[in-house]
Amino acid sequence: MTYRLLLPPFASVGLIAVLTGCGPGSGEPSRPAAVQVSATTTQVADLVRNVAGDRAEVNGILPPNADPHDYEPRPSDVAALGEAAVVFKSGGDLDLFADQLIEAGGGDGEVVALLDRVTTIEGGDDHEGEEEHAEDAVDPHWWQDPRNAVVAVEAIRDALITADPGGAETYETNAADYLDELETLDDQIAGCIGELAPERRKLVTEHDALGYYADRYGLEIIGTTIPALTTQARPSAGDTAALVDLIRSEDVPVIFPESALNPKLATAIAAEADATVGEPLYADTLGPADSEGATYIGAMRANTATIVSGLSGGALGCEGQ
Ligand SMILES: [Zn+2]
Repeated sequence: MTYRLLLPPFASVGLIAVLTGCGPGSGEPSRPAAVQVSATTTQVADLVRNVAGDRAEVNGILPPNADPHDYEPRPSDVAALGEAAVVFKSGGDLDLFADQLIEAGGGDGEVVALLDRVTTIEGGDDHEGEEEHAEDAVDPHWWQDPRNAVVAVEAIRDALITADPGGAETYETNAADYLDELETLDDQIAGCIGELAPERRKLVTEHDALGYYADRYGLEIIGTTIPALTTQARPSAGDTAALVDLIRSEDVPVIFPESALNPKLATAIAAEADATVGEPLYADTLGPADSEGATYIGAMRANTATIVSGLSGGALGCEGQ
C-alpha cells in the first residue's frame, strides 16, 4: 500500500477511500500511535504490548536473549526513555540502568516499577545448599508467577489510561482479553506440574531466577549454579562442591541452563554430579521472534514443558497445551 503515498495532493477523498479500503478512524496501520511508552525488559515489553495493542507504541529497551543483569545501555535508549509518556520498569536490581537513562533523557513521563505493585518474595530464603550469602533481598523475578503478571497487567492498563484517557476502552478490552489468557496459562502450568510425582519436583537452575515459579507451583529449588539473585555473582569452589553433593544426595536428574547464559558452568557441574543438562529455560529474557519463547506466555509454557520433561526423564511433557 505504499504507492498510496505517491498520490498527488489533488487526489479526491473518494479515491483515497477506495484505495485504502476504509474510512477515517478505522485503524489503518500507518496511523501514528496515540502515545509512546517504553519498557525495559522483554517480558515487561510483551505484557505492555498486549495491553497497548495498536493504540500505543511500545519501545522495548532490551533485545531478546540479552541478560538484563548485564545490560550495557545504548545512546538510543536515552532518547526512547526521554520521549516516553510512561516508562514501565521491571524493577529492583534487574533494570537499575533505567534510572540513569531516565535522568539522562530528561523525560517527564510517569515511571511505573512493576516490582512495587506485585506480591514479592525474598531471595534465597529456603533454598538448601546455599551458604548464607543470599542476603534477604527482594527477589526481582516476579513475572515467574503468572498471578503477578496479572497484577502487572492491571497496573499497565491503569497507567496507559492515565497517560492516554482517549484509549481507555481499547486498553480495558485488551487487558481483559489478555488477563483471561494469563489465568488459563496459570491453570495449565499448575496442571502440568501436577502430573509430576511430588518427589521429582526438584529444581537446579543457573541463577536464582525461578523462586516465584517454584513457590507458585510447589517445586523445591535444591540449588543454583550461581547462588545469587543476579547472574553477575560467581560461585566459590565451596558453593559448587556443596551443590554437586546436594544434586547427588537429592537424586536430581537434570540441571537447567538459561537461554541467555553460557551453559559451561551447568555442564561442568552436571558432569561432576552425574546429572544431565536440560534444555535452556527462559529465565530473565524472552527468546527471539521465531522461538517458542518469543512471548511471555510462550516462554512460560516452554519452560514448563522443559521442566516437566526433564524431571520425568522425558515421560511427561504438557501435551495438548
Ligand atoms: Zn535474574
